[in-house]
Amino acid sequence: MIPILDSKRQYATIGEEVEKEVLEVLRSGQYILGKHNKALEQESADFIGVKHTVCLNSGTDALHLALRALDIGAGDEVISTAFTFVATAEAIGIVGAKPVFVDINADTFNIDPAKIENAITPKTKAIIPVHLYGQPADMDMILDIAKRHNLYVIEDACQAIGALYKGKMVGSFGDIGCFSFYPTKNLGAMGDGGLLTTNSDVIKDRVIALRNHGGAIRYHHDEIGVNSRLDEVQAAILRVKLKHINEWNKKRRENAYRYNELFAKCPDIVTPKELDDTYCVYHQYTVKIPNRDNIHKMLQEKGIGAMLYYPIPLHMQKVHEYLGMGKGSLPITEKNTEVVISLPMFPELTKEEQQTVADTLIECVEKSKALV
Ligand SMILES: *Cc1c(COP(=O)(O)O)cnc(C)c1O
Repeated sequence: MIPILDSKRQYATIGEEVEKEVLEVLRSGQYILGKHNKALEQESADFIGVKHTVCLNSGTDALHLALRALDIGAGDEVISTAFTFVATAEAIGIVGAKPVFVDINADTFNIDPAKIENAITPKTKAIIPVHLYGQPADMDMILDIAKRHNLYVIEDACQAIGALYKGKMVGSFGDIGCFSFYPTKNLGAMGDGGLLTTNSDVIKDRVIALRNHGGAIRYHHDEIGVNSRLDEVQAAILRVKLKHINEWNKKRRENAYRYNELFAKCPDIVTPKELDDTYCVYHQYTVKIPNRDNIHKMLQEKGIGAMLYYPIPLHMQKVHEYLGMGKGSLPITEKNTEVVISLPMFPELTKEEQQTVADTLIECVEKSKALV
């Protein structure tokens, strides 16, 4: 059995240090918004290359509070992609705004900037590009469109911590960047967690208030907020792990290139493309194959932990029925939904395991072709 992700292997390398830090927090009596939150905010701001970060309870909250901090709500429209995890669009819905889905680029799986301008209306307030699978979106074009139309840019960098676009880290381009520390992400907590990045003092102060019941001063509440604090145990764990993220991302890339070589002899397997001048961090290693659903079943039977991210595009989810975007409205998104499959990918994955995954997938592709 080769899992898509094995968190235990990573824990084996850092567990001792994590346990020491966690124990210290437990004994300190300081569990909320303490010294580890402060330190993580400083260290992650330095790492990502932004003025401020704010620790939050999840990536979903980062997206939600980003929209709140920019006063986006009922009557507004926000442009994003339907080829992502539901939380991207959910955040837009939570604040009462309307998601406007634009089709993707078939090579990168990210929002196609050439299709954004057609979707802009007088109600459009922001664009949320997603750096899906750890691959940076085409930020130059997105930022240019946003500037010309006076729109905010919120980067959904939940899958892409440490990824670079033209030498700069994702999450540092837009007005706000959003990160998730969900355990399966490249930088995962041991529970839920999230982070918001910004270069604006005003946005930072607003989010600090919003995450703690809408008030910067205790028991003074200026607006409706939420409870979205990151606990000190998670902040302490994340500080230990942040020191390793570059090395872990580098290993993911090496694994991705090894897969690319292993699949080179099988033209039916389309390996991931990278935009020029980007440093992808391969949150997922996602290929396109024919007869995907059959092959997915075959892989599962053979103990290969392949997954479908994501089996139903967001415009075709029941929750978005009200938008009236049926089948056929985002053809490239829909087509890719039917052919993508993500393979085991994590820093500690061995060469032997990759060889097994590749041999098995190639064998399944050949077999399924013979059946057709
Ligand atoms: C994980 C993820 C989120 C949500 O993050 P949570 O921490 O699980 O709330 C949002 N967007 C994308 C693209 C994600 O992968």
